Amino acid sequence: MKAQIKLGRILGVQIGLHYSWFIIALLITLSLANQFRLQNPAWTDGLRWGMALITALLFFASIVLHELSHAIVAKARGLPVRSITLFALGGVAEIEKEAVDAKTEFWMGIAGPITSFVIGVVCLVLAIALGFRPPEFPTEPLPSMLMWLGYINIVLAIFNMIPGFPLDGGRVLRAIVWWITGNARRATTIAARVGQVIAFMMIVYGVLQFFQGAGLNGLWICFIGWFLLNASRESYAQVAITEGLRGIRVADVMSRDYPTVDAYSNLQTFVEDHLVRTGRRCFVVTLNGRPEGIITPHELSGLQRARWPYTTVADVMRPLDQVTTVGPDTPLSDALEMMGQQDLNQLPVLANGNLAGLISRAHVLQLLKTRAELQA
Ligand SMILES: [Zn+2]
Repeated sequence: MKAQIKLGRILGVQIGLHYSWFIIALLITLSLANQFRLQNPAWTDGLRWGMALITALLFFASIVLHELSHAIVAKARGLPVRSITLFALGGVAEIEKEAVDAKTEFWMGIAGPITSFVIGVVCLVLAIALGFRPPEFPTEPLPSMLMWLGYINIVLAIFNMIPGFPLDGGRVLRAIVWWITGNARRATTIAARVGQVIAFMMIVYGVLQFFQGAGLNGLWICFIGWFLLNASRESYAQVAITEGLRGIRVADVMSRDYPTVDAYSNLQTFVEDHLVRTGRRCFVVTLNGRPEGIITPHELSGLQRARWPYTTVADVMRPLDQVTTVGPDTPLSDALEMMGQQDLNQLPVLANGNLAGLISRAHVLQLLKTRAELQA
């Protein structure tokens, strides 16, 4: 989920909005304005719309607090957090690494629902202090707003505790199974399966509701179920990769026989004699036998063909000191993550300042496939 609008940073975490957020923000403001109209017919239009807008914004602020609590636990336990993005179905905190132990996973997962629950209770207590007497609806603007924020945050806490991975409850379930069995892989499989069953049940229930006349509400439940089903598959794949690569280091799989090209070759020669002849895509550029940089088809893309004979490989290569590199001891999952983040297909491996080899995404994926085949 990429944020298209950046709002700023809180505690070093980038907060952003996905375009789809505007749809849900509009829907919530509309439905709040309608609800306030039914409960408080005496309010003026201006007051009604103003309160609906402020309540909706505070609701999204409470979602940010929920995600921020996941982020704070992650950071405290050494997992870097990139961003928090609000989108049509709520918020998502992008944590760059998976938890390495059950305890971290447990606290990271449960922090969000606890935060939402506390916000909900605080809002309800304030609403009651300001004159809200359940089950009567409050008539004053402030307790009306606090009552709604209170209920919605408690609903949010409960929904998130549904034990389907990757919902918070699914993470908590995964942490508990992990802690009991000591087996992260089995815990992931179980939590993901439960997540899929729950998602499937939501879809079926939504369809039944729809045909019994629940209209949009039924479709809405279907849609959330469908989203959960996809999210559960994706997060399962993500976690499976991290676990499949656990314990493997870059040195174990890097290729040491990387192809080279001389720095003074012109690009015409490079393309004809190397690039289109070998099928390799990444070449190490050497000067007097020493590696100086790397060149891939990407470096040729901005250059006219007519210039190829007059341009040397050294002119367009990316010098080694400007390329992201990894060490032989870097965990393979970290290397894969770096390639993913920076959209690179390969990384040079440097050992004590010397080029030790190259590691490519295709190679890592091949390895994962082989391991999966042997396990099946
Ligand atoms: Zn959460």
